[in-house]
Amino acid sequence: MTGGHPSVVVVGAGIVGASLAYHLASAGAAVKLVERSRPASGVTARSFAWINVIYGDAPTLVGLRNLALADHHRLERELKGALAVDWNGSLSWSEDPADSERLVAAHAGWGHAVRLVERDEIGRLEPRLAAPPPVAAFAPGEGALDPVAATTTLVRAAVEAGARLVGDSEVRALASTDGRVSGVVLEGGAIEADVVVLAAGTDSVALCAGVGVALPVASSPATLSRFSGPAGLVGRVVSGPELEIRQDAAGRLFVADYHVEGESLDERAAATLALIRRQFRGAGAVEAIDARVGWRPMPADGAPIVGFAPDAPGLYLAVMHSGVVMAPVVGRLATEEIVDGREAEALALCRLSRFG
Ligand SMILES: Cc1cc2nc3c(=O)[nH]c(=O)nc-3n(C[C@H](O)[C@H](O)[C@H](O)COP(=O)(O)OP(=O)(O)OC[C@H]3O[C@@H](n4cnc5c(N)ncnc54)[C@H](O)[C@@H]3O)c2cc1C
Repeated sequence: MTGGHPSVVVVGAGIVGASLAYHLASAGAAVKLVERSRPASGVTARSFAWINVIYGDAPTLVGLRNLALADHHRLERELKGALAVDWNGSLSWSEDPADSERLVAAHAGWGHAVRLVERDEIGRLEPRLAAPPPVAAFAPGEGALDPVAATTTLVRAAVEAGARLVGDSEVRALASTDGRVSGVVLEGGAIEADVVVLAAGTDSVALCAGVGVALPVASSPATLSRFSGPAGLVGRVVSGPELEIRQDAAGRLFVADYHVEGESLDERAAATLALIRRQFRGAGAVEAIDARVGWRPMPADGAPIVGFAPDAPGLYLAVMHSGVVMAPVVGRLATEEIVDGREAEALALCRLSRFG
């Protein structure tokens, strides 16, 4: 402890670890952020980065999703424009209009700002959409960001708040002393800490196993394809049965999709390009940039795993899907737990202990 504040090693500088490091350092903790490579070199760099409530996790996590959006707005204010979110909303629909209606009804019941829009309005919202569906769910409060820029911004803000970035340093194992996780082992030595926060994405599983903690997290592949395109082709996140697409201010188009083992990424990109040209008017000049697979840390029930590991004192877990959505809120709430010792009610459903 330094002046009553814990020393903390955060393992992993993806968007989750970067947010943890920023919030912890801002609250006075002595933070070392240890990253095997450079910030945002894991799955974060391949994220579609939709900040959504719609299509979210089980209804039990609705509260956390709502807080998550508010925390993105808070971070934008705190970082005074250094973190840029496009709050353009999203349009989502299913093949069967009744499913879209059910989706809107469910989310409206959970207090989300999501409403049903019909073909005319969809056409006004997305004028380049060649064949607007009869109905869609419109979530005007959702957004998207550049996940690499957001992560490097958070790391920079963490360093400004007093954290130290230890880059190009792989954590080989968690160190234990007297039954307590007491730091991390690197190639060239060890770093001691009161608390180790594990935000190493899919690699968290092996590090946990080394101290006898079973983390029910799978490596789940998904593909991010990128395209160059004329600006103004896609106005917001558009998520239909065949295509989930968004466009950034520079005109780059991003498409997220499941990854089928053994598939050719070139063929995937070509098929996606054909879909974009078919679904959006004026998309003839769109060209493929690349398609890459990202390995998502996917807890067995899809919900985040956040909190002190029950059987490994000194170890705090921050492993999750929808890490882009969750990073700001988890950073804030985990900091309350680690620095202030105050249990965060909103994280109650995220504990490892739920797996029994
Ligand atoms: C195609 C696709 C679309 C997605 N769409 C969305 C979306 O729309 N919204 C959303 O919220 N999420 C989305 N996700 C998921 C999201 O990208 C992840 O949940 C999030 O990026 C996880 O961040 P992380 O910081 O936990 O992991 P990572 O980004 O993987 O960061 C972990 C870091 O730990 C480092 N590391 C690992 N092991 C060690 C070690 N031993 N020592 C030191 N460092 C180590 C790695 O180098 C890495 O930098 C998507 C993912 C994909 C692939």
